Amino acid sequence: MQKLLEGIHKFREHELGRYQELFHRLSKEGQFPHTLFITCCDSRVLAELITQSQPGDLFVVKNVGNIVPPAHVIGSTNSTAAAIEFAVEALGVKDIVVCGHSSCGAMHALLENKPTTLPHLDTWLEVADPVRKLITSNYKHLKETEDKVAAAAEENVLFALENLHTYPVIQKKLEEGTLHLHGWFFQIATAEIFAYNPKTQQFELIKQEV
Ligand SMILES: [Zn+2]
Repeated sequence: MQKLLEGIHKFREHELGRYQELFHRLSKEGQFPHTLFITCCDSRVLAELITQSQPGDLFVVKNVGNIVPPAHVIGSTNSTAAAIEFAVEALGVKDIVVCGHSSCGAMHALLENKPTTLPHLDTWLEVADPVRKLITSNYKHLKETEDKVAAAAEENVLFALENLHTYPVIQKKLEEGTLHLHGWFFQIATAEIFAYNPKTQQFELIKQEV
């Protein structure tokens, strides 16, 4: 806790100055984020840091394993859906990014497929069971656990994109051409971001444009 308190003081003393006007304006005008950013709870994945976004830019949903349940999953298992509906319909975001990452503990647990002493976590991971099945059947050539976890993280992003298509609010905006979906993968060690290219069916490094 001490670290957080020190951080608050540091922020107010050294950083707030350059944000003050922006915060003031956002409090008066409300928020108009351009992107819904869905990523993992993992403490190493900071959406605002890796995209250098400002307050008001991103509507961020963090959940365990950046899982997007299909629209038919309702109730307590799908609070993510509430955020999706609000961001798309009420806030009118133009883009949705689903960002998985390397060394994801959730993907590791998903592949292990053993009941834990954490009932809510087990129920949540069950939503992504199709990803586990896909890795088991299509990625037999991968021997190292780390490689399987990385493959699961990528497939889980594609699973999330697929599931996003099941939401009526998203279908409508996609048909209108006012919403775009993106699948990303964040490599923690190098801080590189890879974007899924449907044409090549590969995650490709996002390079600096020259
Ligand atoms: Zn994770």
